[in-house]
Amino acid sequence: MSNWEYAPAPESRDIANLKPAYRMFVDGKFVEGSGEPLKTVNPATEEVLAEVSTASPADVDTAVKAARRAHERVWGKMPGAERAKYIFRVARLIQERARELAVLESLDNGKPIKESRDVDVPTAAAHFFYHAGWADKLGYAGFGPDPRPLGVAGQVIPWNFPLLMAAWKIAPALACGNTVVLKPAETTPLTALVLAEICQQADLPPGVVNILPGAGDVGSELVNHAGIDKVAFTGSTEVGKLIQRSLAGTGKKLTLELGGKAANIVFDDAPLDQAVEGIVNGIFFNQGHVCCAGSRLLVQESIADELLEKLRHRVSTLRVGDSLDKNTDVGAINSRAQLEKIQELAAAGDAEGAQRWTSPCPVPEKGFFFAPTVFSDVQQSMRIAREEIFGPVLSVLTFRTPDEAVAKANNTPYGLSAGIWTEKGSRILWAAQRMRAGVVWANTFNRFDPTAPFGGYQESGFGREGGRAGLEAYLDV
Ligand code: NAP
Ligand code: MG
Repeated sequence: MSNWEYAPAPESRDIANLKPAYRMFVDGKFVEGSGEPLKTVNPATEEVLAEVSTASPADVDTAVKAARRAHERVWGKMPGAERAKYIFRVARLIQERARELAVLESLDNGKPIKESRDVDVPTAAAHFFYHAGWADKLGYAGFGPDPRPLGVAGQVIPWNFPLLMAAWKIAPALACGNTVVLKPAETTPLTALVLAEICQQADLPPGVVNILPGAGDVGSELVNHAGIDKVAFTGSTEVGKLIQRSLAGTGKKLTLELGGKAANIVFDDAPLDQAVEGIVNGIFFNQGHVCCAGSRLLVQESIADELLEKLRHRVSTLRVGDSLDKNTDVGAINSRAQLEKIQELAAAGDAEGAQRWTSPCPVPEKGFFFAPTVFSDVQQSMRIAREEIFGPVLSVLTFRTPDEAVAKANNTPYGLSAGIWTEKGSRILWAAQRMRAGVVWANTFNRFDPTAPFGGYQESGFGREGGRAGLEAYLDV
């Protein structure tokens, strides 16, 4: 199988409509920011894609004031059924421009085109469709007959799902009658700015959505601005803690979606071939840049050798490389800094005595790449079992009894997701009840749906996004 020759099947980069320069979006217009412009690169080639203007503190202030005006004069008092029309329009325009968004996302982020095309963009549209449906039914959502919006939301998102995270944040906020100021990640600002174009195309009233590119300082300026009522942050636990500390006592509402170190537990009665597919999807999907990635495989000792052999065989068939090639399974690491972080943690795995296996797949010379890697003989005390690697690196631990599996799965400061592989329904329920994780998948992994609440425990953050529960974060209840 792994010797099959594939002809290159590149998607055309012209579809991305890449422009040499992008500007920030404030009060319904694209304007030059007064911060230092940034250059965004394609991590698969290290080529500069575009120059992007960034926000200064004064620009943050202007955007927050525009969002406030839009909230007070238009959006906050608009009937839900009217708001819904705009949000449905945004959803349909994402679908219409899906190919463009997918190619642009793969260029800016490095993720494989089949993923941006089949997961990121359709799920982003689904979030707008789903929340548009709630806009005129908020009185029936279980938060009282007339739940009110909070006002202006300041939202900061990471680079791993740039468009999807923007949709995930903006759609519920708008459905509930809030206006937003959003800061995309420094390395992946482009699709959020095309989403801004879509807001213009949809005739969204000026100021309802504002997009401010920039680095962490812009994020910090935004979340600390006195004119916002709610902060929604997705990113690292470290920055999440900083934000929580600085918001304490301000009365701003806060939700944090942070890191994870999920256990994917395979019991001895699991269908192994299916489990292998789920393990691969759990850790190698999106280069492992997934907060809920199944980065710790817990496998029952009696089947560990057989499972590992099947897993290595399967992983060695994954194709690493050009993110625009439709056959690529694993794309580029998003930045040199992230690549170095992955290399450093993998080296710690070697130093602490774990056994490293690396896929023999060819890896491009240029660009930021890391071949899929599996560490076995991992002990719970090792850094690769405790710290989030956020890359295509799996740590394999074993267990003998179900109780031991649960204890090991929960032995983490995080608590975002978990996976359970077994043929017995009773064992699924038994284990799921004991997992301290916000999302538990059974005989599958990394399934996302706007109707299902997503969020964590402990250092993975608090608050839920998606589903009825996710509305609560944007309503005064
Ligand atoms: P990060 O450094 O926390 O960055 C996240 C966002 O916050 C970026 O937009 C970043 O700007 C901004 N930021 C940085 N410092 C800030 C500050 N002091 N105040 C306000 N905003 C600030 O995380 P990352 O390295 O980009 O992303 C990887 C991490 O995110 C991983 O740990 C991963 O687990 C977590 N994550 C969690 C979820 C979830 O749903 N729970 C989803 C995705 C990722 P820059 O772009 O300039 O850095
Ligand atoms: Mg980029």
